[in-house]
Amino acid sequence: MDSHRRSLIGSSTSAAVGALAGCALPGTAAGPGTPFAVPATYLPIVGSALQFPVRRVYCIGRNYAAHAREMGSDPSREPPFFFQKPGDAIQNVAAGTVADHPYPSLTKNYHYEVELVAALHQGGRNIAQAQALELVYGYAIGLDMTRRDLQRAMGDEKKPWEIGKSFDHSAPIGPLHRVGQTGHFSQGSIWLKVNGVVKQNANLNQMIWSVAEQIAKLSEAFELMPGDIIFSGTPENVGPVLRGDVIDCHIDGLPNLGIKIV
Ligand code: MN
Repeated sequence: MDSHRRSLIGSSTSAAVGALAGCALPGTAAGPGTPFAVPATYLPIVGSALQFPVRRVYCIGRNYAAHAREMGSDPSREPPFFFQKPGDAIQNVAAGTVADHPYPSLTKNYHYEVELVAALHQGGRNIAQAQALELVYGYAIGLDMTRRDLQRAMGDEKKPWEIGKSFDHSAPIGPLHRVGQTGHFSQGSIWLKVNGVVKQNANLNQMIWSVAEQIAKLSEAFELMPGDIIFSGTPENVGPVLRGDVIDCHIDGLPNLGIKIV
């Protein structure tokens, strides 16, 4: 019996060492065998054959004072906060196209939120604000699509927001532009039209927390990693769309993002 136990311990120890060694080999093309494939999520990079691999999608809430007020909070007292969408919620939308975007299940109040997205190529914990922009690889324009009725209902019940914010296809996003192509974004027009009518219209300089401050604060709560992207919050006048509506959104310095709700 003793020898049997020893051999079990021996074999499980060597298996664990083997697994660890397998994990610790960066760049090894062949990982462990898997019974099925899970696709990774990438953002196209403008002017490059490479693609940006997405790790996590962070979103900042209530980062424009007027939007915080329309959502029922006081921007002078309540700091912005973070939530996440799964990486595979991303819907890539090529510049100059209008992508079909499926109206999601369960909601009767489906909202747009146009946002600047920062993509990180470096990570870390407790990043100083003065160094934070060094983490940024590039920027894109994105939509934080929201099942507002479900988000509100869960909020009213003090339950998590996932069903309102983190559902399939809830993050349409345009191609990534490297910092060297665009610089950093501290000001500039950000707007959104539905069927040609302006709905949201603000300036990035109205963000309560800058991108650098968002990175610094986020890195207090999470260890940031290369591949993380951050939706930096939406201005006021969020509102509903229905099937057939076309959303066109803009940030100065980036190509417009377009989707049609189908
Ligand atoms: Mn948002």
